Amino acid sequence: MTEVIASSAKKNLLGMTLPQLQSYFVDELGEKKFRGAQIMKWIHQRGVDNFDDMTDLSKALRTKLKNLADIVYPEVLELKESVDGTRKWIMRMDGGNSVETVYIPEGDRGTLCVSSQIGCSLDCSFCSTGKQGFNRDLTSAEIIAQVWVAAKSFDIPGQDRVRKVTNVVMMGMGEPLMNFEPVMDAVNIMMEDNSYGISKRRVTLSTSGVVPNLDKMAGLTDVSLAISLHAPNDELRNQLVPINRKYNIAMLLESCARYMENLPDKRVITIEYTLISEINDKPEHAHELAVLLKDTPCKINLIPFNPFPNSGYKRPSNNRIHRFKDIMHEAGYNITVRKTRGDDIDAACGQLVGQFNDRTKRSVKFEDAVAKGRTASQIAHK
Ligand code: SAH
Ligand code: SF4
Repeated sequence: MTEVIASSAKKNLLGMTLPQLQSYFVDELGEKKFRGAQIMKWIHQRGVDNFDDMTDLSKALRTKLKNLADIVYPEVLELKESVDGTRKWIMRMDGGNSVETVYIPEGDRGTLCVSSQIGCSLDCSFCSTGKQGFNRDLTSAEIIAQVWVAAKSFDIPGQDRVRKVTNVVMMGMGEPLMNFEPVMDAVNIMMEDNSYGISKRRVTLSTSGVVPNLDKMAGLTDVSLAISLHAPNDELRNQLVPINRKYNIAMLLESCARYMENLPDKRVITIEYTLISEINDKPEHAHELAVLLKDTPCKINLIPFNPFPNSGYKRPSNNRIHRFKDIMHEAGYNITVRKTRGDDIDAACGQLVGQFNDRTKRSVKFEDAVAKGRTASQIAHK
């Protein structure tokens, strides 16, 4: 069943949270509430997309579901695997546009970088997604489908499902807080025990600072937070991250503090800082950043700028990157430089543009690949 999402008039169960599924079964189908958790396990824990395979449902219920509901997910246009094990999927969404999802393995951890929108309206000056403009929001089904497809790609026929996706970061294409409800539903499904059961510490939402929605998030969810700061003062941040002109750094840090205070456990914010040569990578920027963040419990993630055509920006030299890092380190910060992963398959931060290039087309139907037991690299190099 490789239908494109939303092509069917039937109810797509893929993007529904547990409470939504429970009320669907009770109110619309006249069934018991526990069916919600039962179907959620079939869909998300076992990767089943066909009601006939749900063997603990009665035949009558399976028939009812086949008539009224569906489990639809996007077509995988392309699946590439990097020499370092990073995988990138290009998935075709309804309307013909595509988004990218990236999987980064590291030791016993597997991090999936998930997209929330097709394009982005916030137009940060160093981001190729932003430069592409905004097309549309993804639905909750289209967001969680990226996790579903990735998790399923690690299934080994005849064996128990191996849990490969241990972490999710909402750091793919789009600004998650500009697509609020669908993103909240999708992260809810990721963390639900009857579904992927990923711990709230291991689901991270990255935002460039949509302050009103960050405020709204407190009390609704307890995902971990990453802030795309990129500058130590408003003057520079106004140029790099235009939404700063509306919600400045002070407003953003205050909103972050309120969110963190509301969490039931103690966690720190991740501060993302893309280092761009001669723009925000000078020693004085590092000193200013150290002062700015002195009251914000955080860890800092430096992301060397990933170039793309006509960006007008350059990645700093390793010397400059390490000088910046050392200054922050000496000021007492926990700071790491993000390793560039998967850049041979254009899967690095800021390289996600969701276009489908016909010249490199090696498309493969996802379940054909799984059924034939081919590996991603065999598929990509076909
Ligand atoms: N819209 C959200 C999440 C997606 S962007 C946000 O801005 O936080 C994910 C991260 O990649 C952000 O920190 C973003 O600033 C960074 N990024 C974007 N373009 C980049 C580039 N060309 N090089 C390095 N990092 C980039
Ligand atoms: Fe949008 Fe994030 Fe890119 Fe800015 S950095 S344009 S908010 S995706």
